[in-house]
Amino acid sequence: MLSRADGRKCPTCSGKMEHLSGQKFGHERPNAATIEHINPRKLGGSNETWNLIVRCNLCNRASGHMMNEWLQRHKHNPPWNEKKRMINYLWLEVHDTFTAQELYPELFASFWDKRNSMSTQEVRV
Ligand SMILES: [Zn+2]
Repeated sequence: MLSRADGRKCPTCSGKMEHLSGQKFGHERPNAATIEHINPRKLGGSNETWNLIVRCNLCNRASGHMMNEWLQRHKHNPPWNEKKRMINYLWLEVHDTFTAQELYPELFASFWDKRNSMSTQEVRV
């Protein structure tokens, strides 16, 4: 899944991804290809291939931060309708960024803010 992603565009930000074979990396490699759960494990998502997608490291991490903040806001026990909303949003975030932004502007803004602040930090280092 990852080796085929080398040189391909991230579905969310269109940045060109690179496959770092067998290498460990952190935030210093924002364009590394990473496998991500579309519906996260924390919300009951499975490990099956239809729930997995390749995205760049930066989008993956920013989305994780956005979701953790949301979980904290709901004291790690979001009501089912909020959970359903988040799962719908996350599906759109990876498949249809434009619609995600249209339908869930506040979630998308939170994701994008985090993504931007993470990428400027990386440039400064
Ligand atoms: Zn990306």
